[in-house]
Amino acid sequence: MPLKGGFIPNAGRTREMGAECIQVFPGNPTSWKLPHFDEQEIDKRSRYLLELKIYPLVIHSVYLVNMASPRPDIFKKSRDMIIQTMHRAHAYGAPYVVVHVGSHSAAGRDTGINNVIKSLEEQMPQWPEGVTLLLENTSGGGSLLGGDFRDLGEIIRYFPGAPLGVCLDTAHAWGAGYDLSGPRGVAETLELLYRQLDPSLLKAVHVNDTNVEKGSGKDRHQHIGEGWIGKEGFASLMQQEWPPDFPFILETPEIGTEKDRQNLQALKQASRQEL
Ligand SMILES: [Zn+2]
Repeated sequence: MPLKGGFIPNAGRTREMGAECIQVFPGNPTSWKLPHFDEQEIDKRSRYLLELKIYPLVIHSVYLVNMASPRPDIFKKSRDMIIQTMHRAHAYGAPYVVVHVGSHSAAGRDTGINNVIKSLEEQMPQWPEGVTLLLENTSGGGSLLGGDFRDLGEIIRYFPGAPLGVCLDTAHAWGAGYDLSGPRGVAETLELLYRQLDPSLLKAVHVNDTNVEKGSGKDRHQHIGEGWIGKEGFASLMQQEWPPDFPFILETPEIGTEKDRQNLQALKQASRQEL
């Protein structure tokens, strides 16, 4: 949804469309500077979400963040941005901040993973209580980390008991070579993920269809049912056993409210569809 119009009217619109949870950026997703921290405004917004019964609110960190970066300036800015974003989430009462694992930028996979671990080690003592950072899998193209679930596992296992979890993006998983197009693919893909981390650490799913080739390393989001994952894939995924209030979040292309409503309906139908 376009940010213009403001948080409150947009939240009202999503609720009216049938949404039960939402994800927002803490500010301009391509800027290193977050908007002024207006406690009163944040308070107003979180009270409104409560009123609308929208839960949880998920905060998606800005796109510039790269905790794996070999560049000291980017490394530091990324670490500080996550700390700031975690505090914003706390102010909203949002339980989760989502971040892409990052890109090693030709420094090599192991260096990249080590940088992420170092970044997390440095910043965790400054995180507020009650907010969990979710590492999102990527499509794995180029020097992107987190396409392979083993990348997520390696980072998560380094911090046992820490407020860390995973957000699974279906389009990214497909791009990285994981099948999600039906009951069998979904079962196999989740099994591979759960080999890396405890199922309870999967805290959110980004539900996006995609028409890139499986394993192409590409990242392109498509409307629900208009890509390779298809309605059967989403039906299988949504009908797994999930905890109450488990957030499924749409990140489909922004082409207007009517299409958003259709995507939401398609998901709700999928969750009841017979398999
Ligand atoms: Zn995503």
